[in-house]
Amino acid sequence: MNNSVRPRVFVTRDMPQPAIDRLKEFAYVDLWPAFPAPEKHELLYHVSQADALLCMLSDPIDEEVMAAGKKLRVIANYAVGYDNIDVAAATRRNIAVTNTPDVLTETTADMAFTLLMAAARNLIAADRFTRDGFWIAWHPLVLLGHDVSGATLGIVGLGRIGQAVARRARGFGMRILYTSRHRNPAAEAELGVEYCSLEELLQQSDYVSLHTPLMPETHHLIGAKELQLMKPTAILINTSRGNVVDQEALTAALQDGTIGGAGLDVFKEEPISPDDPLLELSNVVVAPHIGSATIETRTKMGMMAAENIKAVLEGRRPPNLVNKDLYSSPSK
Ligand code: NAP
Repeated sequence: MNNSVRPRVFVTRDMPQPAIDRLKEFAYVDLWPAFPAPEKHELLYHVSQADALLCMLSDPIDEEVMAAGKKLRVIANYAVGYDNIDVAAATRRNIAVTNTPDVLTETTADMAFTLLMAAARNLIAADRFTRDGFWIAWHPLVLLGHDVSGATLGIVGLGRIGQAVARRARGFGMRILYTSRHRNPAAEAELGVEYCSLEELLQQSDYVSLHTPLMPETHHLIGAKELQLMKPTAILINTSRGNVVDQEALTAALQDGTIGGAGLDVFKEEPISPDDPLLELSNVVVAPHIGSATIETRTKMGMMAAENIKAVLEGRRPPNLVNKDLYSSPSK
């Protein structure tokens, strides 16, 4: 097909090749070549020419971007969360917003459990200790962590990823508490999870793992007051979004021993500054937002985004539509 008649897709970061190849089957692909991300003026320029935008959770897609996209019909986010997109503005402008649920659930749950295990057993400190030549003799008191098996895990947000974490915790013989907006009797029966309030969960858990989306209601869901409720040995795991936690309050709680440790994949600002006081703490394990970062999952996410774009460009309802109102009228 001639490129001039093909729809144009702006892709804001390189991604696994099968997804790019799939897009090229039906569109002209304008692939952002550089690292890091396009700056706002670059985003505006490329979106102004695009029929579709394939973007990342770190690309803020606001009203200004959508206004620049005169031909824009679909914003396909390469993530399950879509807190980077003004969905209401997209709906007003008749632009479909799509995401990539399910395909990253198990991979992100693996990451939450990796952080939990690494924080519980001081894995990063142990790695440095070994490499730096501090291992001079086996000693009963060196690098002592806490048991995961048999401990209590509190899951905040028992959705897809929260339930996948619960399945892993069952294998470790953990008691599992959860809190969510709605009680989930089916999950309680299947996974043996116990529903309780956020306060009870924080008071009783040895590990607390966060799995809510970032929304106005969950912004700073865990702040100084909530951290005070936790056990002094408790470990907080966050693979949801940085701003679900008040990061200053968390830093203070880790500094003064209010809680025992943390495993964090997400931060209030990403990338986190290397000078951030959080990174000076030895009781924190950090990762650069790599919850879904496996070749298999990142490929599936790209393929899913490509299928969502193709559907909209062909006038069909995309499989992973976020702004569901858009296709509610029979004319669409
Ligand atoms: P999901 O299936 O929609 O689950 C989210 C859960 O959060 C729902 O069960 C919801 O429960 C619960 N929830 C919403 N508001 C709540 C509140 N105020 N208090 C307690 N629970 C609340 O989403 P998911 O696929 O599991 O993904 C969850 C989030 O993980 C995403 O939104 C994204 O931000 C993050 N994520 C991060 C990475 C990473 O790379 N680190 C990767 C994937 C996803 P009810 O509605 O039933 O009450």
